[in-house]
Amino acid sequence: MTTISETSAAGAGITPGAAGGGLPRVPRSAKAEALIEQADAHTAHNYHPLPVVVAEADGAWVTDVDGNRYLDMLAGYSALNFGHRNPVLLAAAREQLSRVTLTSRAFHHDQFGPFVAELSELCGKDAALPMNSGAEAVETALKTARKWGYQVKGVPEDRAQIITCEGNFHGRTLSIVSFSTDPDARTDFGPFTPGFVSVPYGDASAIEAAITDDTVAVLLEPIQGEAGVLVPPDGYLAAVREVCTRRGILMMADEIQSGLGRTGYTFACDHEGVVPDLYILGKALGGGILPVSAVVADRDVLGVFKPGEHGSTFGGNPLACAVGRAVVGLLATGEYQARARTLGAHLHAALATLPEKMVREVRGRGLWAGVDIDPAFGTGREISERLMARGVLAKDTHGSTIRMAPPLVVTAEELDWAVEQLHSAVG
Ligand SMILES: *Cc1c(COP(=O)(O)O)cnc(C)c1O
Repeated sequence: MTTISETSAAGAGITPGAAGGGLPRVPRSAKAEALIEQADAHTAHNYHPLPVVVAEADGAWVTDVDGNRYLDMLAGYSALNFGHRNPVLLAAAREQLSRVTLTSRAFHHDQFGPFVAELSELCGKDAALPMNSGAEAVETALKTARKWGYQVKGVPEDRAQIITCEGNFHGRTLSIVSFSTDPDARTDFGPFTPGFVSVPYGDASAIEAAITDDTVAVLLEPIQGEAGVLVPPDGYLAAVREVCTRRGILMMADEIQSGLGRTGYTFACDHEGVVPDLYILGKALGGGILPVSAVVADRDVLGVFKPGEHGSTFGGNPLACAVGRAVVGLLATGEYQARARTLGAHLHAALATLPEKMVREVRGRGLWAGVDIDPAFGTGREISERLMARGVLAKDTHGSTIRMAPPLVVTAEELDWAVEQLHSAVG
C-alpha cells in the first residue's frame, strides 16, 4: 500500500525554509505572457487568475511553464485534498480508462453499485445519487427537499420553502444564485427562483424563527469557505440539527469544500457529532481528476425520485465511480483526516506567530485557514501576487482574507515555509 509520505511531493527540489528570500524565480517568459494573453482574448473574464501558467503538478507542488515551482496552498478550492496526481487515484483512473469510461445511466455498469454502496457507508447513510459538479449536487439536494416536502411532509403544491444562510456559497446556477447574498453573484442575473428565505449564519434561533408550515429544509455550509472560512459558534450545528428534527424539516449540509478530510474529520459536521439528513459532496470526491459530486441520504429521502424525474448523462459514469471509489478508499483508512488534524494544528500554531499588527484574525479548522491581513499591508490580491513571487500559490477572498487550504499531503516543513513566505509577503 502506498503511504501518504510516498504520495507527497518528496524531493520537491527546494529547501523549505530557505531563509527569507523565497525561491529563485525565472521571470515570466514570453511564452507564458502569450498564453495569458491568449486566454484573455478568448474566454469570458469571469475569473481574475494570478499570472502563473501551470504546466505540471505533483503532490502539493505545481510547476509553471518556465520551470518555477510553487507550493499549492489552494488545492483547487479543496478539490485536490489528496494531492495532485495522487498515485492511488491515478492508478484507479488508468485501470478504468482501459476498460469502460461511459455508459450513461441507461445501463448498469460494474462500478456504479460498489461506488454508491461504499460512499453511502462512509457517510453512514443508505443511498447516494452521483452527479458531476458541486452546483449540480446542490440542485439535486434542493429538488430532493422540495419533492420530499410535497410527498412526505404534505406541503401544499408550489409552496415549499428552503432556509439558507447569509454569506453562503453553494455554486453558480440560477437557482443557487437566487439565494446568494453576494451582489457579484446576483447582479443582472434575475429574475430569480422563488422559495428561499435567508437568515444570518451561525444563529440557530434565526432558523427556528424562519420556519413555517411550508418549510422543507435548511441548507448550510458547516464552515463557510468562500465567505472567508467562517467557523460558526460552537454548538451551532448541533442546535440546527435539534431544530430540524423537532420541526420535521431536512438538514442539508453542503460539505463540498469542508468535507472529505479537510477539517481533520471526514465531515466538518463530525466536529459536533452532527449527522445531517443530506450530505452534499463534490470537489475532492473526484480526486482532483474529474468532476464527481453526490447527494448522500437515507432511502426515505432519496427514495422520492422516480425514473425520469432527475438525472445526468455523466453522473455516476464508470470513470467517475472508479475514481470516487478510490477516494472513499483513501478516506476509509482515516489517514488523511488524522493528517489534517495534526498538520492543521501545526498550521494554526505557525499562523499564530505572525505579528499581531499584520493579522487581524485567523479562522479555520484542520488544514483550512482564512487569514485576515490588515489592509494597511495590501489587498488580498496584492498579497497573493507577492506570495506567488515567493513560490506560494494562495488566493484571496473578500478583500483582505488569504485562504490557506493545501493538499492534505503537504508536510509540516512545507507549512512552516509557506507561513514564512506569508510573513515576508505581508511585511
Ligand atoms: C465549490 C463549491 C460549490 C460548487 O461546486 P462547483 O463544482 O464549482 O459547482 C458548492 N458549495 C460549496 C460549499 C463549494 O465550496
